[in-house]
Amino acid sequence: QSQELSQAQTDYHAALQALVEDGTRMVCTGRMHTDRVCRFESLCYSTEAEEFVYFHSNSSVMLPNLGSRRFQPALLDLSSVEDHNTQYFNFVELPAAALKFMPKPVFVPDVALITNRFNPDNLMHVFHDDLLPIYYTMQQFSDLDQEARLFFMEGWSEGLHFDLYKLLSNKQPLLREQLKTLGRLLCFTKSYVGLSKITTWYQYGFVQPQGPKANILVSGNEIRQFAKFMLQKLNVSLEESSSEEYIVVFSRTINRLILNEAELILALAQEFQMKTITVSLEEHSFSDIVRLISNASMLVSMHGAQLVMSLFLPRGATVVELFPYAINPEHYTPYKTLATLPGMDLQYIAWQNTDREDTVTYPDRPWDQGGIAHLDKAEQERIIKSTEVPRHLCCRNPEWLFRAYQDTKVNIPSLIHVIRQTVKSKPGPKKQKWSDSLYPGKVRDARCQASVQGTSEAKLAVSWQIPWNLKYLKVREVKYEVWIQEQGENTYMPYILSHQNHTFSENIKPFTIYLVWIRCIFNKNLLGPFADVLLCST
Ligand code: UDP
Repeated sequence: QSQELSQAQTDYHAALQALVEDGTRMVCTGRMHTDRVCRFESLCYSTEAEEFVYFHSNSSVMLPNLGSRRFQPALLDLSSVEDHNTQYFNFVELPAAALKFMPKPVFVPDVALITNRFNPDNLMHVFHDDLLPIYYTMQQFSDLDQEARLFFMEGWSEGLHFDLYKLLSNKQPLLREQLKTLGRLLCFTKSYVGLSKITTWYQYGFVQPQGPKANILVSGNEIRQFAKFMLQKLNVSLEESSSEEYIVVFSRTINRLILNEAELILALAQEFQMKTITVSLEEHSFSDIVRLISNASMLVSMHGAQLVMSLFLPRGATVVELFPYAINPEHYTPYKTLATLPGMDLQYIAWQNTDREDTVTYPDRPWDQGGIAHLDKAEQERIIKSTEVPRHLCCRNPEWLFRAYQDTKVNIPSLIHVIRQTVKSKPGPKKQKWSDSLYPGKVRDARCQASVQGTSEAKLAVSWQIPWNLKYLKVREVKYEVWIQEQGENTYMPYILSHQNHTFSENIKPFTIYLVWIRCIFNKNLLGPFADVLLCST
């Protein structure tokens, strides 16, 4: 045992010496604070100052070296929510020599991912802002493996869904508060700071009204792989299609209630001839909910964070989102955007209560549960009269909260009608067909041959070969798009063709140079890349 101890002591001495001599090293990816993730060696954290510390020494590295731009506004976003001023990361700098005067560092041996959770009590935020980004940040850096340790620096306690965060690695995640118990100066041997935003699909409305992100970079494939990982970690096995089909109603029990839930369940069961069951976060374990949803044909729920669980639905299933009175479904689309990501293969249906008789409001509740009693009389009256919440910014718009926390008596015939407009026969799972989502390569061996007839007429015969990947695919419809552009002109003539050659004679002049652009199109909307431009002289 004493040998182990002296081993640990020499390790400690070596680590301390390395820190003093080499200082901190940082190399980051990303060009802006909003897309930056940094890898550190020997990044330290003072639990007293609640500051990260970068130690300068002969071997320290800081890339990017931004000078004071590091504070404009920050080095990086610590959460996946873009450019939120409560989520910025930075460090303070010191010479490594200052370590002589500081508390003895405690070294963290695990590879660390240091990040902020955004709102750990709300399931949509848990999945969209934290779990998916953490999972894919870990995929990006190979030493962030199952032995890595997560450090949550936002300052919250564990929160309602801490068990889900625990699934991401084999080590217990640590919270900011717990760091104090480890020591006064912590030094992370190897750490990554920040989170990839590549999987997020929604912006919550901090600078413009909420909506899908402008440039979504994730497809259903990556969402489903993450879902599969979670399923495995939760020990949920996927049953095969042999088992009975059913509908899940995901209910809320505290607010935004469905007032006629029993009637709704009977109606759905009767209409679709399927067993219909209810789940809620209050009454079911998380793994039970995941197990039930992952084999369901349809998920029906009030608008709300619990609908993020539709990422566990099988391909081909249907999501039905119910909106209370005066809430325009088009203005609140986190779950629609998820369900309709390319390759997610879910059918999405929104239903809105349009009947004032069927809504129950709570003007006297506290403001954060939608009460409006604190507003002046005129404003209260305006809100009560209004038939639609105007677009607004996050997060405290009283009219939005007032309408969002209404209870609803669902008009069954109207709901069945909108579902039936999309779901014609039985809703249900389907197999993935790759050929529906793959893009053509470039057309190959494009050639042109010109012929001139007299002084005013000419023809251009253009031919090409199929894209290389087509011979390995079954594609329903293959078309080619050809653009013919006179050299030096801004405009072009577009053609959609079915064959691999065509002779153009319309508007073709003799003794002119044409640029010919050709691309392949699969199934009307899968547009391939243009082949290298062809130069054709008549
Ligand atoms: N929630 C719930 N049942 C309820 C009310 C809320 O399970 O009756 C959950 C909800 O799914 C979310 C969290 O509690 O994960 C916070 O709900 P809130 O209404 O604040 O957010 P929203 O659902 O509108 O995003």
